[in-house]
Order: sequence, then C-alpha cells, then structure tokens
Amino acid sequence: MTEAAGACDVIVIGLGPGGEHAADSLAKAGLDVVAIDERLVGGECPYFGCVPSKMMIAAAGTLREARRIPGLAGTSQVQPDWAPVAARIRDEATDDWDDQVAVDRLVAAGATFVRGRGRITGPNEVTVDGRTWVARRGIVLNTGTSPSAPPIEGLAGTPYWTNREIVKATELPASLIVIGGGAIGCELAQVFAAFDAEVHVVEVADRIIALEEPEASAALATAFAEQGIEVHAGASIHRVDHAGDTFTVVLEDRELTAQRLLVAAGRRTNLADLGLEHLGLDPAARVLETDERMRVAPGIWAIGDITGKGAFTHVSMYQADVVIRDLLGVDGPWADYRAVARVTFTAPEVGSVGLTESAARAAGIDVVTATGDLGTRGWLAREPGLIKLVADRSRNVLVGACAIGPSGGEVLSMLATAVHAEIPVPTLAEMHFAYPTYYRATQPVLRALLHG
Ligand SMILES: Cc1cc2nc3c(=O)[nH]c(=O)nc-3n(C[C@H](O)[C@H](O)[C@H](O)COP(=O)(O)OP(=O)(O)OC[C@H]3O[C@@H](n4cnc5c(N)ncnc54)[C@H](O)[C@@H]3O)c2cc1C
Repeated sequence: MTEAAGACDVIVIGLGPGGEHAADSLAKAGLDVVAIDERLVGGECPYFGCVPSKMMIAAAGTLREARRIPGLAGTSQVQPDWAPVAARIRDEATDDWDDQVAVDRLVAAGATFVRGRGRITGPNEVTVDGRTWVARRGIVLNTGTSPSAPPIEGLAGTPYWTNREIVKATELPASLIVIGGGAIGCELAQVFAAFDAEVHVVEVADRIIALEEPEASAALATAFAEQGIEVHAGASIHRVDHAGDTFTVVLEDRELTAQRLLVAAGRRTNLADLGLEHLGLDPAARVLETDERMRVAPGIWAIGDITGKGAFTHVSMYQADVVIRDLLGVDGPWADYRAVARVTFTAPEVGSVGLTESAARAAGIDVVTATGDLGTRGWLAREPGLIKLVADRSRNVLVGACAIGPSGGEVLSMLATAVHAEIPVPTLAEMHFAYPTYYRATQPVLRALLHG
C-alpha cells in the first residue's frame, strides 16, 4: 500500500556527486527538495571510486618515487606497508563508509533526505518503500552505475573483487589478476604492483586504455613492463576457477593464477526498475538521451554516468550546474561536451581532452596532428612522456590533446582551455612558456602543428 508523503518542488533520485550538488544547491535556493539515495550520499566517487582509489595511487606513487632514489640521489630502502593506506581510506576518506556528514550537510541545506530505493510511479511521482512524493517542478535522475561482470564461464559465484571490495582491502594480496585494462583496471593494477604484488592485466582489446590515443597505450605498456606488470592484451578468456585461496583465469594459450581477482571490465547504468516506462521512456535503456539543458522529457532531468557523456565526477557536477540553472530559470550556459577532460591516474599519467585523432577523423574533421617529448623537464627528472595535439586544419584550432607523463592531468589544463575556447593555434604557440616546466613541452608541438 502506498501512503502519500507529500508534495515538493523537486525530487532527486540518486545522490552521486551531481545529484548531491543539485539537491544541496536547489534547497539552498529555497526550493522544497526531496533527495533520495538507497546507498551512500555522494555516490561511487567518495566511497568506492575516485577518492579511495586516488588515495591508494598517491601511496603507490610515493613508493615508486622512493625507488627512484638510486641513480638520482643516493640509496633508498623501501618497505611497503598497506596498513596506513587501508586506515586512511577507512578513517579519512570514507568515515568507515558512513555518510552521516553528507546527510547532515544536505539536511542543513534544507533538503528532506530519504534513504531507500526511489521508483517513478507516475508523472512527477516517486515512491520509496510505500511512501509517495509528487514533484511540482520535476524529477532529477542521478542513479549512476554499478560494477558489471562479463559473462565468463565460472566467474559468477567466485569471491572476485570489484572496485567496491578492493577499496576495503585491509591486507595486500601476494598476487592479483585484473580483468579489464581500462582506466580503473590499470590504475589499480599499478597500485598493487607498487606494493610488490605480482600483477597480471587481462584485456580483450588489442591494447590497454584502448579508448585513449595509441601512443598513450604504448607508453603505459612500456611502464607496466618495467614495473613487472604482465599485460595480456587481445586475450580471450575461456574460464575462471576458484579453489581455496587461488583464482585461475584460463586464457586461450595459458593459465594465470593469483590470490585475488579484480574485475574492472565495465559498468552498467542503474536504470533498470526505475519506472522509466511511466515517463514514456524505454525501461531497458542503457543511457538516457538528454538535450542541452539535461532534460530527458518534460519535467525530467538526468545527470551523471546515466547520460553517457563521460563517466566522470566532473561531468556529473558540470551537468548538475546546468540543471540547477534550468530549474532556477537562469539563462544558460547549457551543456557542451567539446572539451571533456579525462585523466588516467597511472604512471605515466595520461591526461586527455576532446577528441582523439581517430575520433576526430571519424567526425570528418580535416585533422592535423603533432607529437613531442617532455623536453628539458622530462630529461632533468628522467621521466619519459609525450604530448600529442590534434587540430582542425581548416579552423586552426585544437580539437583534442593528450599529455602523457608526470602531471599529465595538470599539463592538460591549458590544453583543455584551448579546446574549450577555440584559441587559434598561432596564438597558443606564441605564448610565454615558463622554462623548464612540463607544460612548456607543448610549445614545440604547437609550432610543429603550424607547419603540419
Ligand atoms: C574505481 C573508480 C575510480 C574512479 N575514478 C574517477 C576519477 O578519478 N575521476 C573521475 O572523474 N571519475 C572517476 N570515477 C567515476 C566516478 O566515480 C563517477 O563518474 C561519479 O561517481 C559520477 O557518477 P554519478 O553522478 O553518475 O552517480 P554515482 O556516483 O554512480 O551515484 C549514484 C547514486 O545513485 C544511487 N541510486 C541508484 N539508483 C537508485 C534508486 N533507484 N533510488 C535511490 N538511489 C539510487 C546510488 O546508491 C548512488 O549513491 C571512478 C569510478 C570508479 C569505479
């Protein structure tokens, strides 16, 4: 039986980074907001994604840096210990996976928080555990994604890890197989290798981080080989077995064994059983099509991973700002995805913005590219890396860029600005570039583009 819980201005279902931001801002602006989440306020990023994984990555980077002392600055003895990493994730990052601080913040902003699974039960109507709310202005969907596993024989039922278990690991495995060589799989593989685990990465595509430029995949594969991480690209996985403390992954030509198995091979959007049919939408949709105001249908907005515009926290927050403006009657700016930035936090770090070379060609752009190394700073620091720029020859502006190396994601900032603002390549090439910085390495590449 359903019980009418009341009317409100806006209902937000799912409080990932964007949903939380939208609920908080709309409530602060004076709207009557009902904010619903079945798990933790803040979503995947603070508890199971970006934050704990980047805390692990910071620790692993410190170990790698200490190991670089011989040959550069003397001698070093490194004794990895996972205990401080696990403790920081539990105590500093996630409050032991407790969202009370976030809930209190939301309530202090003036929102009504409801813990439970929200389901659309009619136009402007949402039901949670038998209680129903009706929204006067509309519903914002931010239900995000969950880890999904490929249909590999034997995998289901084994105690494999996804991102949700690995961030809670209190002990280091001696060995780890990672199924999935995308950003998440590669980041976590490198963390555990830095802590001396034997690591294999199994990827069905013919290269790791296959969505990035081939140059980035090659640079990372070289680093993985130097760090002792075995990459099995182009793999076909026949079966997974688990017995005692051992996983076996059977490939076409060999068997891999390890103490732990991480599956990082894709995510599914949380759209099933959301009641989309009550809005005239396909209940089996994988993503929701949105317009430039993030509207899916009259009175329905969607933000975050479910929109398929880039599964990143910054995209979710960006889209939330668009929705906030639309709901508050502010006139734009509306959503624009030409300069979506993304960073794979490996070593080397891979920062990318806009289109890759192949995506630009597929889009019919008159493409010109140029690449260059990290110049003086790379040589001084003994750090290899690469800058690749993708330009539209006819308009003489950058449409994509990739910065590979230490701080690749930071070097990216100027290139993201250039793509976003369509700064002419000659203007960029004649800027002052501080010597000897990593971003200075972009100048010869920009000049090469002019002659390309
Ligand atoms: C290991 C890992 C590392 C990552 N690293 C980065 C990174 O470095 N940088 C970056 O930008 N991104 C990173 N991401 C991606 C990032 O976490 C997501 O893009 C981000 O969380 C935005 O997701 P979202 O807003 O779509 O919602 P999510 O964060 O997925 O949250 C959705 C929320 O909706 C709730 N929910 C779902 N269905 C319902 C329902 N019916 N009723 C009520 N509540 C519901 C869920 O409980 C959840 O709290 C990483 C992801 C992973 C897994």
